[in-house]
Amino acid sequence: MVGAAILDEIGFVLAGRRKEPRSAAGLWEFPGGKVEPGESVEAALVRECEEELGILVEVIDRVADDAALPAGDGVLSVWRARIVVGTPVASDHSELRWLGADELDSVRWMPADLPFVEALRPSLPRR
Ligand code: C5P
Repeated sequence: MVGAAILDEIGFVLAGRRKEPRSAAGLWEFPGGKVEPGESVEAALVRECEEELGILVEVIDRVADDAALPAGDGVLSVWRARIVVGTPVASDHSELRWLGADELDSVRWMPADLPFVEALRPSLPRR
């Protein structure tokens, strides 16, 4: 699984509130999804951001080392990205929010995303 920590011009990071599955509904994540066979991580991130948010992103770099997902779901790899074209619109998510360092704890994150939240925190602006 790949996730995109999308940063705006100021440096705030985009979080999406999951609709499903029921066990994860209401929890927040870095938007993303599965890497398809033969696809690069970068291409998967670009594709998922287009599908889920309607934006074109440019992938920058890894936020932190990949983290194991529960239930043998493989690993989660989260990458910084910036928007090249468009404004994110929620479709797969019930809500989107731009968060600063002091707002990261205002949402309940998917457990697998937490190490990436902590890795990003020092570099995010405060509101
Ligand atoms: O988005 P999707 O339902 O394909 O994700 C499959 C699984 O990957 C989720 O149930 C969750 O365990 C994990 N995931 C995550 N954090 C993300 C994306 C996916 O924990 N940012």
